[in-house]
Amino acid sequence: MIVVSQLPLKVYRKVKVDPITECWLYGKEKKKHYPDLCINGGRIPLHRAIYEMFVGGIEDGHEVDHLCRRKNCINPVHLEPVTHLENMRRYHVLVALKTHCVRGHELAAVGWYESRSREGWLKRCCKACAADAQRRYLQSRHRHSPGRV
Ligand SMILES: [Zn+2]
Ligand SMILES: [Zn+2]
Repeated sequence: MIVVSQLPLKVYRKVKVDPITECWLYGKEKKKHYPDLCINGGRIPLHRAIYEMFVGGIEDGHEVDHLCRRKNCINPVHLEPVTHLENMRRYHVLVALKTHCVRGHELAAVGWYESRSREGWLKRCCKACAADAQRRYLQSRHRHSPGRV
């Protein structure tokens, strides 16, 4: 989960959280321009920097859109690259082509299920890995519970 205190301190100090909309409002709302941030001598829009920090990289030429329509909001949950749909489509192609999990299980053989990433994207998950994780979890619980062998 993304929380406002994860922001870099110098940004966090200037942010007010709107308790109703959960907007992270940076500085004054009436400013004509988006606030920006100095990184390595260059200036980039602050909301873009924050988006990249919390969610991930933005391809060249893609703009970050404010879903809440408040220019000085930097809550990553309220930000979305305007080419999101296109990204989703590409992502689905990749997902459809995925035949093996990161640990090398063949998905067609062990089975897979779909789940959504934190960003709301659909991904394939390996059932064998999920079963492994479940087993490890149960084992660790077993070890740590007193009075059982
Ligand atoms: Zn917002
Ligand atoms: Zn696997």
